[in-house]
Amino acid sequence: MISVKDLHKSFGENEVLKGISNHVEEQEVVVVIGPSGSGKSTFLRCLNGLEKATSGVIEIAGMELTNPKTKLHELQQNVGMVFQQFNLFKHLSILENITIGPRKVLKQSKEESNAAARELLKKVGLTGKENNYPDELSGGQQQRVAIARALAMKPKVMLFDEPTSALDPEMVGEVLQVMKDLAREGMTMVVVTHEMGFAREMGDRVIFMDDGYIVEEGTPSDIFTNAQEERTKSFLAKIL
Ligand code: ADP
Ligand code: MG
Repeated sequence: MISVKDLHKSFGENEVLKGISNHVEEQEVVVVIGPSGSGKSTFLRCLNGLEKATSGVIEIAGMELTNPKTKLHELQQNVGMVFQQFNLFKHLSILENITIGPRKVLKQSKEESNAAARELLKKVGLTGKENNYPDELSGGQQQRVAIARALAMKPKVMLFDEPTSALDPEMVGEVLQVMKDLAREGMTMVVVTHEMGFAREMGDRVIFMDDGYIVEEGTPSDIFTNAQEERTKSFLAKIL
């Protein structure tokens, strides 16, 4: 589903990704961990074209993102992204937040997009919030709307960048639950998170990044109980 070969990304003189290579299989759940500043967000943003790779090759769902001929908006339809800060449109209702993409990009009718949005709201446990505005919802509810909004575009891959880091602790569980449901349904997911419970339970693979490199990867138990690299061990010692 995702193939990355020797991905480099620099901001000016600052090389943030220093040669990342990886494959993500269809239906795989990959958890990315690593210290702040190690390049996790930049990696995800390169995967959906929010940042342009300096060099290297990225293929997603059969489309080569790094080929200048690829139409970025077509690729981005296949790749849903959920951010730490929800990024909902504050002046739009919950229903409008979810339907605007399908209406404008997928050319769905009002009836079709509204019906799909109601199904998605049910799926994330927010039936009845259609006509509310983002500010009227808790952080956990807003993040579940953000997930529903991404799903409304029928993506083949979902990218999550620390989706629970901005939430009050009592709201983390409800968002993780939605993500677990999605993983069990077979969604291909790349998740940057320090929620080790989620990583252990749902992760097929854990990648540890540091300083722009993938230092180590393996199954959750490989990484959490049997890390080989000193940098991985010292990072885990700080967070576990
Ligand atoms: P992480 O998500 O692991 O904390 P990031 O990918 O956000 O790491 O950042 C990695 C490095 O890239 C940091 O040094 C950060 O300052 C730098 N960086 C990220 N985005 C930009 C940007 N748009 N412009 C300049 N530097 C950036
Ligand atoms: Mg980040």
